[in-house]
Order: sequence, then structure tokens, then C-alpha cells
Amino acid sequence: MMQMQIRNVHKSYRKGKTEVPVLHGVDLDVQEGEFLSIIGQSGSGKSTLLHIMGLLTPPDQGEIYYNGRRIDNLSARKRDSLRNSEIAMIFQFYHLLPELNLLENVITPIMIQQNFWKYMLHKSENRKRAEDILERVHLSHRLKHRPNELSGGEMQRTAIARALINRPKILLADEPTGNLDRQTETGIIELLRELNDREKLTIVLVTHNPVIAQGADRVVKLTDGIFE
Ligand code: ADP
Ligand code: MG
Repeated sequence: MMQMQIRNVHKSYRKGKTEVPVLHGVDLDVQEGEFLSIIGQSGSGKSTLLHIMGLLTPPDQGEIYYNGRRIDNLSARKRDSLRNSEIAMIFQFYHLLPELNLLENVITPIMIQQNFWKYMLHKSENRKRAEDILERVHLSHRLKHRPNELSGGEMQRTAIARALINRPKILLADEPTGNLDRQTETGIIELLRELNDREKLTIVLVTHNPVIAQGADRVVKLTDGIFE
């Protein structure tokens, strides 16, 4: 089944008086349960496209559909809610909250989703869910550590756990291994592969690295703001 459809998406950025065109009518279909890579040179518009798919940036023109429903024109509140529940994102830099330990970082999206009373009511259940997810990303031994006590790979695993805590249907990953050494990078890609195989999580992975892209089921190439 088709999960996400991108139709004729255009995007430019304005720099002073000049307009920098980035995407020129992009079309893309993402199937439910697939592991797709988007590859392209630096500056080809990969992040821009992924941010548009994740509803962080509006397109200038074109549409995004999720399970057949148009989503790019939703209210800010509905977009935030969709991003908190169904469409999760991870980035090259992990954006963890430095004051919180791993467990607390991972629980944050539940706190946002539930109101305070609901959260308090389900506190131990929420905690258990965060512990389970951290176990799945092999971080059970680090629950009380803060981000600055972790390696890059561990921080990205935490970001993945946080992205998965509300059981999203699709994970958008923007160069998630861009800041990691080779071996750690392989570990992260294997983890994504595992999540896709075992839990049928749809994954869209953006990377400039062809070797990493080959880890996916399907690779599409963005060149000058359009798919080849
Ligand atoms: P990629 O992720 O493939 O490296 P990006 O989508 O980040 O490419 O960027 C595509 C082009 O858009 C680049 O030329 C970049 O400089 C420009 N760009 C990206 N974000 C902005 C922005 N917020 N304002 C102005 N220009 C931007
Ligand atoms: Mg980028």
C-alpha cells in the first residue's frame, strides 16, 4: 500500500534579492514497509525534501499525502501531532536534551502527546515502554546517563529510541550516520534494517554516501532538485 506520496513539490529559498531554487517538481511514492534511500550530492535538496515530508517546512507548490490524505495543508497543531505520533524523524545531530538522562529524553514525546494527568496516570507504563525501546537499541546499561556521557553512536541510538517511542509508522532519517565513524555507522544502519524487517517500520534514509544507500531496498537519486 502507498503510504506517502509527494506530488510536484517545488521549493526555493530566498537569499537577499536572489531566489535559490532547490526542488523542481519532485514526485515520489513511498510504499508502506519499504526501506528507501534518497541519495544525492551535498546541496542537491535532500534535507529540504525530507523536511517537507516531515512537515517541518512547507513546499512552495505541490502536495504531500499520507495514507491517501493530504497533510501539507494541515494546521500547525495537527502537523505537530502527526510528527509526534506517525511520522518520526532523526537527524545527523541528535538534538537530545542535555539536562535529561536517556530515559527522560526518550519519554519526552509521550509527555508531549499525553497531557500531564494522563502521563502521571500511566507513569510506570510509560517508563516501561521507554526501557523496552532503549533495550531494543541496546542501551539498557545507560538509562541514567546524560547525553554528554555518551558516544556519538549511543546518542544516535537514543535519538532513534525517542523517535520510536510513540510507535510511528514511518521514520525519516537525514544523514543519521553523518557524524559517526565507519563501524558505528554500520551498527546504526543494521539497527534501522532490523526495525524495518522485524517491525515493518517504513524508513526513508537520506544520505550522500552510496555505500550506506545500498543498505536499503530501493535507492532513488536526487539531482538538481529532481529525481533521475
Ligand atoms: P542537501 O541536504 O542535499 O545537502 P539541502 O536541502 O540542505 O541539500 O540544501 C539544498 C540547497 O538549498 C543548498 O544550496 C542550500 O544552501 C540551500 N538551503 C537549504 N536550506 C536553506 C535555507 N534555510 N535558506 C536558504 N538556503 C537554504
Ligand atoms: Mg542535507
